[in-house]
Amino acid sequence: MHPRETVDRALRLSGLGYSDRQVAALCGVTTGAVRKWRTGLRRVKEDEDRRLNSSCPRCHGRPLDERAYAYLLGLYLGDGHIALGPRQVYRLSLYCGDTWPGLIEAAAQALSGVMPTSSVSRRRHTGCTEVKSYSKHWPCLFPQHGPGKKHERAIVLADWQEAIAAEHPGPLVRGLMHSDGYRGANRVRRPVGGEDKWYEYPRYLFKNESADILRLCGDALDRLGVDWRRNKRNEISVARRAAVARLDEFVGPKY
Ligand SMILES: [Zn+2]
Repeated sequence: MHPRETVDRALRLSGLGYSDRQVAALCGVTTGAVRKWRTGLRRVKEDEDRRLNSSCPRCHGRPLDERAYAYLLGLYLGDGHIALGPRQVYRLSLYCGDTWPGLIEAAAQALSGVMPTSSVSRRRHTGCTEVKSYSKHWPCLFPQHGPGKKHERAIVLADWQEAIAAEHPGPLVRGLMHSDGYRGANRVRRPVGGEDKWYEYPRYLFKNESADILRLCGDALDRLGVDWRRNKRNEISVARRAAVARLDEFVGPKY
């Protein structure tokens, strides 16, 4: 075993154009060792290039797990964020509140299902966990990426995204509800025999500042046959008993 510095120095000298024999003499190692380091490194780099050049369903035609994508699209539209880092690599981050640890796992699975060549990492923040994955190709999969907040720009799905949204409205709504939605009790007051009584019904709320994202949510609910209404400018409500029961088949409580 040679120390790391020797290997690095040899590779540096090779990179400057010295022959293996010259490098061996300069570093005090055998010519065979220099050749092995040089070609081994090239193989690792070729593997890396091959991996990176087959990672994108849009650029390289790799098959896309459409169900995982529909769910991830919902999470992304809800509160996902894509940021450009060094060397043109993008980070897709999803923020999962600590109240629902099951969501962290579901988000991680969706990220790795959609971009299996990238590893998923987690970072703790106060009150939430950031689940993230790095790839040069996240903007290919989420062309909605752009500067500024999502509600300050038009969010229009590409044709291929529309096709997936139409085919998989269940996972899409699940992702939307898991990120920006809520399933909880709605308290309703009803007069009974001259007296007010309180009743509790489960209902879903989806809150988002983007009119486009609200419309996408409404379209997906329509496709599932779930009755909904816009009860505020920035909120969709699913409150009828049959509609809640139907949506429970696809979403269910956060866990
Ligand atoms: Zn791509």
